[in-house]
Amino acid sequence: MKGWNGKILRLDLSRAKTEVQAYGVDMALAFLGGRGYAAKILWDETRPGMNALSQESLLVFATGPLTGLGFPNSGKLVVAAKSPLTCGYGDGNLGSLAAVHIRKAGFDAVVASGVAKKPSYVLIIDDAVEIIDAEDLWGVGTFETERKLRERHGRNVGILSIGPAGENLVSYSTIISQEGRSGGRPGIGAVMGSKKIKAVVVKGTREIPVANGEAVKHLRAESFREILKKPNYAFWRRQGTMSTIEWSQQNSVLPTLNFREGIFEHADEIGGALMEKQKATQRGCPDCNMICGNVIYDAEESLSELDYENVAMLGSNIGLSDLKQIAVLNRMADEFGLDTISLGNAIGFAIEASEKGLIKEKITWGDFGAAKAIVEDIAYRRGLGELLSRGTKIAAERLGGDSWKWAMNIKGLEISAYECHSTPGMALAFGTSPIGAHHKDAWVISWEVSFGREGYTPEKVDKVIEFQRIRGGMFESLVACRLPWVELGFELDWYPKFLKATTGASINLDDLFKVSDRIYSLIRAFWVREYGSNWTRRMDTPPLRWFEEPLTLGRYKGSKLELQKYDSLLDLYYKKRGWDARGIPSRVTMENLGLDSVASELQKYVELSPSASY
Ligand code: SF4
Repeated sequence: MKGWNGKILRLDLSRAKTEVQAYGVDMALAFLGGRGYAAKILWDETRPGMNALSQESLLVFATGPLTGLGFPNSGKLVVAAKSPLTCGYGDGNLGSLAAVHIRKAGFDAVVASGVAKKPSYVLIIDDAVEIIDAEDLWGVGTFETERKLRERHGRNVGILSIGPAGENLVSYSTIISQEGRSGGRPGIGAVMGSKKIKAVVVKGTREIPVANGEAVKHLRAESFREILKKPNYAFWRRQGTMSTIEWSQQNSVLPTLNFREGIFEHADEIGGALMEKQKATQRGCPDCNMICGNVIYDAEESLSELDYENVAMLGSNIGLSDLKQIAVLNRMADEFGLDTISLGNAIGFAIEASEKGLIKEKITWGDFGAAKAIVEDIAYRRGLGELLSRGTKIAAERLGGDSWKWAMNIKGLEISAYECHSTPGMALAFGTSPIGAHHKDAWVISWEVSFGREGYTPEKVDKVIEFQRIRGGMFESLVACRLPWVELGFELDWYPKFLKATTGASINLDDLFKVSDRIYSLIRAFWVREYGSNWTRRMDTPPLRWFEEPLTLGRYKGSKLELQKYDSLLDLYYKKRGWDARGIPSRVTMENLGLDSVASELQKYVELSPSASY
């Protein structure tokens, strides 16, 4: 095989054994890599109903056919497992030198099973794999862990690690690399912690086999030059995603006070313009000339890497208006290995619960000291932090009252930083995201606000599916960062060319979208197999706050979503995907996607509709 290494490294942590598994071109062409491989492995090899944090669970680190070859923005990998937060499929991507080195070590993915006898880290140097005692690193933050491991193994190694949050099995703990790259929102860090793996350190020295080395070199140089020519390049380098604070405020979609409102009176104190004045340096993923991690000195004089999501969720969403204080919370989250989006939701939820007298703690909007204490308590699962460490869905179940209506999650995953009272298309994108409410798969909101934003039109369904195919299927499986395309208009046609040079295969965009559809139906099957007869279309529906409590401020004052109309969007979405009225792929749909065996297996758990006409 060219392009793919054709090998997966298997780590059996319980027995301290490793094995190299070869796979064939059929799997490569059907699932590409990254999310595709993760979904396939988790479907094939996990038992529905298993505890996500048990011996039985699997942890997947998956690269793609472009990883390690130096194509633009391709220094990334997908981390995936059954989620302890949602009990469904969970994944995330992060930029890391580890992605590049896994491929150069001769593998396309690493899959860990079992549990190590004591806290350990995995050292991979080409074929040589060791599981090494990490008791001295257990309890140490991710930045310090990485520094210590670099002292031992040299600067040019890739490192993925967890912090205390992952060790303590916080349901939305992540995996961190390079002091700011974070991936695996649905608790993939906790899965790593449950396996007692503090870090993976990897170094590869081999050539990745490609079909046409000259073409790879030429395309690489040409594509990077093309990115530099894009009109928005200079502004992007100045602000990265941070200008989205101002954009969201202008468009009334900036999450504010636990998603009650879409505008924040102090937005200009936390936005891209102010960040630019405070910027100390920039960081980014390997193989990227758009580096978008903007780093400032926080209120405690430490460096903190900011982006839109973490500033909105730890700023306006909790009423905090000091960028340097927000940066402290963000840095703490990265050191503890906590997802900032779920964290901002959890803090907002706690403040609202305090306001409504559902908890005894007195916490108010914008209280930096209280927020800081909560972040630490969540990481160590102490006091109120224990309740919040389970995510807002479980917290609401435990608190009772009507808190479930304003526990801002879908399928258990907290909503990322776009307020949707007046944007039904983005609400649908959140509702149908394959991991729970995340913007990664279909960020349709920038298109939607200029396209009759409050309407429930078929074009919105088409746009959600189109974006899911590109962003959630193609980019997550290649694995490449979507931002050149999203932010600079870097054309999609480049990717089939990259694939041709790398693998020799002629795979056009339609082929890639078919792979995307296969992955989406497979991931949906995973969820349905886990939930069985408890699966309902309501799992694709946003929280009631957006339907029942209209906005009280700004241009869209009085706006709220309408459930019946949202359901009509969902119906159309299901129909176009070939899923039935419950949101379950029909037998015919799965057969058309080559998922015949998946259909037969799923039939054991739910009655399948023969076709999606209903
Ligand atoms: S644009 Fe940002 S997120 Fe994407 S690869 Fe570059 S640094 Fe990473």
